[in-house]
This record gives sequence, C-alpha cells and structure tokens, in this order.
Amino acid sequence: MTTIYNFSAGPAVLPKEVLQQAAAEMLDWHGSGMSVMEMSHRGAEFMSIMDAAQKDLRDLLAVPANYQILFLQGGGLGENAIVPMNLMGKRPEATIDFIHTGSWSGKSIKEAQKYGKVHVAASAAASGFTTIPPRAEWNLTPDAAYVHICTNETIDGVEFQFAPEIAADTNGAPLVVDMSSHILSRQIDVSKYDVIFGGAQKNIGPAGLTIAIVREDLLGHSLPVCPSAFDWKIIADNGSMYNTPPTYAIYIAGLVFQWLKRQGGVAAMEQKNIAKAKLLYDYLDSTDFYENRVEKNSRSRMNVPFFLKDESLNTVFLAEAKANGLLQLKGHKSVGGMRASIYNAMPMEGVQALVSFMQEFARQHS
Ligand SMILES: *Cc1c(COP(=O)(O)O)cnc(C)c1O
Repeated sequence: MTTIYNFSAGPAVLPKEVLQQAAAEMLDWHGSGMSVMEMSHRGAEFMSIMDAAQKDLRDLLAVPANYQILFLQGGGLGENAIVPMNLMGKRPEATIDFIHTGSWSGKSIKEAQKYGKVHVAASAAASGFTTIPPRAEWNLTPDAAYVHICTNETIDGVEFQFAPEIAADTNGAPLVVDMSSHILSRQIDVSKYDVIFGGAQKNIGPAGLTIAIVREDLLGHSLPVCPSAFDWKIIADNGSMYNTPPTYAIYIAGLVFQWLKRQGGVAAMEQKNIAKAKLLYDYLDSTDFYENRVEKNSRSRMNVPFFLKDESLNTVFLAEAKANGLLQLKGHKSVGGMRASIYNAMPMEGVQALVSFMQEFARQHS
C-alpha cells in the first residue's frame, strides 16, 4: 500500500504513534476495564488523564504560574464570542481593537461586534491578505478593552513572525491571540500575551476541545449575559470540570502532548517545522509551474497555499496526488488553488513526497 500523507487543514493529521496507542487502549485503559469514553469525568482514572494533560501543556509552553489553562468547548469560532463576553464586563463601552489579517480574524471581528464597539486598527485587505501589517502601522485605540490578533491565518497562509516584533506595546490593553492553527509549532513567550486560545483540531488533537490560556487577573470580568459554562472564572474555579468536558478529546490531546515531549518539545518541533516549510517554499520559489503569493516574511510554516499557473490542471493534479497517497490538498474555496497544511504531526518524509510529486507532475505537464 502507498504511504498516505494527509495535508488537511483541520481536523488534521495526528501522530501515528498516538493513534496506535489510543487503539491499543480503546477497550481497556490501563487495566481499568473501561474505555476512556466510558469513564466518569470525576473518577480517579479520568482525573489523572486531565491532570497530566494540563501539566504537560504547561511544561511544553512554559506557561507561567499566574496563567490558567482552561479546557473548553465551542471551537475557535465559539471563542470569538466567549472572549468578549469574558473581557467586557468591567467596561462594556470600551472599544475592541482588531488586526485584520485574513479569514479568521475577519470572522472574529464580525462576531465581536455583537458584544462591543469594534475598531480595525490595521488591515491587510489591500494586499489580498498576503502580508502581516507591521506593528508601526497599527492604529490602536488608547485604552482599548483588548487587542485581538490571529497569529496564523489558516486559510490565507500568513503568520506573524514572533516576539519581539509583536511583544507589541498595546498601550496596556490585554493582547488576545487566536493560535488555533500553530499553537505548539514554535516557541512562544506566554508572558507576552494575556489570552491565548485555539481549537485543538489543527495542531493538537480531535475536534471538540478548545484550549484557552488566560492570565489570572483577567478572570471575573465577564458580561452578565455570559453563559456559566463559558465563563472563564467559573471554569477555572472548577478545574475545567464545571460541566462535562470533552473527555476523549482531552485524552488524545494528552497523548499528543506526551508525544511532543518525546520529540524534544516545542523547540525541537520548531526546528523540524522550519525545515519542512523551507523545503516546500524553496521548491515553490524555484519553479514557474507553481506559485505561492504570500509575501516572504509573512509566510506560514503550517499552511502553505499554492497555485498551479495553469489552473485547468487543478482537477488532474488533485486526482494524481490522491493516487500517490497525498490527500486533502485542495485549497479553501475562498482562496482557490491548493493548500498543504504541514502541522507538527506531518513528518519531513511527507513534505519530501509532496515536493517529489509536484516536480514529477510539473515535468509531465510542462
Ligand atoms: C479553524 C480555525 C478557527 C475555527 O475553529 P472551529 O473549531 O471550527 O470553531 C478559528 N481560528 C483559526 C485560526 C482557525 O484555524
């Protein structure tokens, strides 16, 4: 059988070792006689899974003690409402600043408008979302409620290049970051952010789990309308067990965290991700047959959109890629073309197989 490489943007590839371990433990977790799916979330067995997952995530990102790690539901889009509902209580009249860098921050802007006054402090719309607006061009509101950025735009394939560049002075406003599609792919200094959130299904585990890392002094600022099950303070006070958490998704995420530690942690992962992205972008830049349109300094290491110069070949490209075991390369409908998502769990061999296929395809169709 051909080796399969899955380039889906999300839900996305998981480490094979993790899936094998989950399969082996499916019917009987550690001699408990139960599948993880069948356990009470308040029993000793699941509590140990939960504690280990939170602790391992804290280790991997070196999350400081004054930040809470919350395991939530509702996805990245849910957080677009949950964030303003949790941060606007003290000053409901305050303005929320956004940096508009692509599809996901665009959705965040739209949703936040239901909960507060919104100001787009910078936008890359004029470039077709192929750049990250430099910090010097951000027109931030003095005394904003918070500043929201999406540091990796999964659809557009742009990524912030990190600290110190966006250790942005936000005039004291909390910095809220959607890291759904690149969390744990590169080293970050959590203390430079105030709220970090992300859905798990891009770079961590199964859909259904949403992670929020919140600086403790921001808890307890919710609007009265905020549902209890989404109130960060209530969730923090209850150890992410206020209501039934997505137990199986947390278990798989925990296995991924252990796998990441075995790989050498986030620093080692980042080096692999740099090498994978370089291989693909270097090839794209070396040929006229394909093209990536993102400005070089804004390119995402995780999501690589590209186009065939002759778009009439798109269908045959996708069919032949699939026949060669290279799956889910079709671009997002709003951008078109192709997109290769090369998250942590995509091995270098997968990117090598993709580039070899692209070279051969170009040779045959030139
Ligand atoms: C996928 C994604 C989301 C939305 O996640 P859902 O879980 O579908 O709500 C939000 N932000 C970014 C950056 C994403 O990649």
